[in-house]
Amino acid sequence: MTTTTLNRIEQLRKIALPLEPDAEQRLQWREQVIQYTDAFLKSLPELPAVRATHDKGVGILDSPISEAPIPIEQALDLLKNHVDRPGENEGTTPGYLAFIPSGGLYASALGDYIAAVTNRYVGLSYCSPGAARIEPMLLRWMADFVGYPETAAGDFTSGGSLANLTAIVTARNAHQLKAADFPRAVAYLTDQTHHSVVKGLRIAGMEECVVRHVPLDEHYRMQTDALETEIRSDRQAGLLPWLVAAAAGSTDTGAVDPLASIADIANHYQLWMHGDGAYGAMFALCERGKAILRGIERADSVTMDPHKGLFMTMGTGAVLVRNGDNLLKAFQSHANYLEGAETASSTGEVSQADLSPELTRPFRGLRLWLALKLTGVAPFRAALEEKLLLARHFYEGLQRLDGFVTGPIPDLSVVTFRYRPSHGNANEFNRKLIQAIQQDGRIFLSSTQINGEVSLRLTVLGFRTHLETVELALEILQQKAKEIESGVNF
Ligand SMILES: *Cc1c(COP(=O)(O)O)cnc(C)c1O
Repeated sequence: MTTTTLNRIEQLRKIALPLEPDAEQRLQWREQVIQYTDAFLKSLPELPAVRATHDKGVGILDSPISEAPIPIEQALDLLKNHVDRPGENEGTTPGYLAFIPSGGLYASALGDYIAAVTNRYVGLSYCSPGAARIEPMLLRWMADFVGYPETAAGDFTSGGSLANLTAIVTARNAHQLKAADFPRAVAYLTDQTHHSVVKGLRIAGMEECVVRHVPLDEHYRMQTDALETEIRSDRQAGLLPWLVAAAAGSTDTGAVDPLASIADIANHYQLWMHGDGAYGAMFALCERGKAILRGIERADSVTMDPHKGLFMTMGTGAVLVRNGDNLLKAFQSHANYLEGAETASSTGEVSQADLSPELTRPFRGLRLWLALKLTGVAPFRAALEEKLLLARHFYEGLQRLDGFVTGPIPDLSVVTFRYRPSHGNANEFNRKLIQAIQQDGRIFLSSTQINGEVSLRLTVLGFRTHLETVELALEILQQKAKEIESGVNF
């Protein structure tokens, strides 16, 4: 090698040096980050659930990615002003009661920090055998409280959407459906099925399959008689009833489909039953929730979202498959370059990469493991039961407010309701009401359309949401409704 090349190598190494900060630099960065995140946590009580700013965070673009570095103080300032100020404080503020809030437990953030610094590879069991044991252990823990047998296997995904997709692909393979069968394969959903299931079918290449929307009862739960009738007539017509997606807590209304009856039907007609429990399945951790979710243990697959019901940082979903062989068959793969890579540290266990579409991925389990280890399970169980009771409390409180009509009594922790104005268009009124609440910002609710009617919905799932927030929500609703009725502000 020529001297110029050697010189160049040395020169490049020097330029790349900032990639490896020394202990002092690490300390300085870390302290700034801790200060910043502590200040964020301290500000939570005053932080609105949503803050509409005129700039909408556009200022972040004024500091483009460039060759030159900036000090950490300046970087954190950019985040503070343009990232953490505008928009929703999802899952962080108690007043976030819209959609399905996600978590962000401090312990899970610390778990992420450790996982990122040590950067363990969890895809293949022989790479980091200890790390590779953690995720199956956690998945087993989840399988246990869902009621799954020893045969179950699962995977941590980035969220519920990828968990649903994984389940769909597993179901497709388990039923040995090939492209030529797709136009005859029938999937049974409802109007309350999460859109990620339909998206999953599309990504799985099954757009041509027949999708039936089974009617709902007055609680927004699947009508199982209608399901059975449709399956029978589809069979008679020469179609292949294949998948039934049951909501173990629908996103929109929180309704839990009659899981045990659906399991009976799925069993009888040999359909794959998928339980979408991204929002609701974690409630099986508490007795009250477990009773509501009875039958979920009979689903062939279940989606769970620890970043919802276990308050983890975003990017923590999970899929469980009752007969884990089906998951393995769908995702196991072989690569020449990995041949012979098995080392003395191999555990002989199935690798997560063989149960997942992913190969290299974050060590998602560590955040959950650390959080569960640092507090034990009891606080999680208590928090989940608290959410169920808070939703019930809100529902009962609404009955006492003037002018509000409620949807069905909540199965879990979503409450749907609307205001019935003394005059004028009710949909318009409810749209105004949601706007007024969002402008106020102390709480954040969302709306939906049920049978063409604009409904408001409140979800209690934030780990910081407690009794006073739910009472504040009732107070704000009554106040804003009165203001709109009397024409104030509008
Ligand atoms: C949130 C949700 C999903 C999608 O989960 P992500 O984690 O957002 O990908 C799927 N199904 C239901 C019922 C949900 O509530």
